[in-house]
Amino acid sequence: MHNNTYLYIMYKIYLKPGKEESLKRFHPWVFSGAIARMDGEPEEGEVVEVYTAKKEFIAKGHFQIGSIAVRVLTFRQDETIDGGFWRQRLKVALDMRRSIGLVGRPDNNTYRLVHGEGDNLPGLVIDVYARTAVMQAHSAGMHLDRMAIADALAEVMKGEIDNIYYKSETTLPYKADLFPENGFLLGGSADNVATEYGLNFHIDWLKGQKTGFFVDQRENRALLERYARGRNVLNMFCYTGGFSVYAMRGGALSVHSVDSSAKAIDLTNKNIALNFPDDTRHTAYAEDAFKFLERMENGAYDLIVLDPPAFAKHRDALRNALQGYRKLNARAFEKIRPGGILFTFSCSQAVNKDQFRMAVFTAAAQSGRSVRILHQLTQPADHPVNIYHPEGEYLKGLVLYVE
Ligand code: SAH
Repeated sequence: MHNNTYLYIMYKIYLKPGKEESLKRFHPWVFSGAIARMDGEPEEGEVVEVYTAKKEFIAKGHFQIGSIAVRVLTFRQDETIDGGFWRQRLKVALDMRRSIGLVGRPDNNTYRLVHGEGDNLPGLVIDVYARTAVMQAHSAGMHLDRMAIADALAEVMKGEIDNIYYKSETTLPYKADLFPENGFLLGGSADNVATEYGLNFHIDWLKGQKTGFFVDQRENRALLERYARGRNVLNMFCYTGGFSVYAMRGGALSVHSVDSSAKAIDLTNKNIALNFPDDTRHTAYAEDAFKFLERMENGAYDLIVLDPPAFAKHRDALRNALQGYRKLNARAFEKIRPGGILFTFSCSQAVNKDQFRMAVFTAAAQSGRSVRILHQLTQPADHPVNIYHPEGEYLKGLVLYVE
């Protein structure tokens, strides 16, 4: 039970000696093992102050029970976490997208406005799809503050958006008893077609994965378009068919899309029809990727995309994940037509760039083919990496020329 002074109390967390080092370098997390003691018992999601063992203020952030105990919102003691704070952070995020030319383009209204730690808002993701912003909380604190954030978002994005959809049922720690409900916090439009670099997509923010679309592959899809002319394209793990639609525009001879989810195949077909009605170059297959690769003919394709789901969601699953990447890529190396191009990705945060490259290297060596790296890909600029939080770099890709 809280007494009525509750509103004025800021819980304090004291670190063990020396455990402030990473915070001094602006790393935005406090691990539970670094904590010596807490003043009082903060509820999950509350804002707490963090102090060194010498009782010096060092950071302020959202508290949560778990391995990451505090997600830092500010390193300044005089900054209060209120409407003004959310408005200021969102405005900085919008200004950045504007300055890199992603906002206000006639051919593009799809971008990530907030990318968690990359925008100094750990636990929060906001994607913009035409007139709708889809907001996702990955921490209890962002969930509890959702109304204040939505108010600030509506203000900062005035004129840009009319709707805010909140989608956190699957991204919050289920033990925290937060009972998140997906739904509109502002507006409520059912119009869900958004435009990315002149191509249109149905965005299923109600039931789709993540916020409904993989905004993070935009630049890589645009690169694929440049290589598609005259090629037979295979898009594995196609989800909404993003790479397939770009390949069609790039002038591919044929495009085959594969996903094990029938819903994804539906979406892909819809998105192809939306952009290329009556075009017969595209076929979609609801099938397991490994089975498809097993049965497909040698040399059937000379442009292959492998964009599987995160094989390693946690660090302990790393070995299996690397095996998965190796096997998957080995099949592609064995069967791609000579002179073919392979776009291969990993979006597992637990797998780093070198580990992924090693898995692909091993697969290439197994096939015995001559393979050159043409491009090394990563996430786009609207998914920025906070330099003090290198873990934020999660998307890795290689474009390979296979002789
Ligand atoms: N390339 C997509 C995103 C891929 S998300 C884009 O640019 O938008 C990963 C997809 O892999 C999901 O749609 C999921 O349904 C699919 N998937 C997961 N396991 C699979 C498997 N074993 N075989 C085929 N598809 C699979």
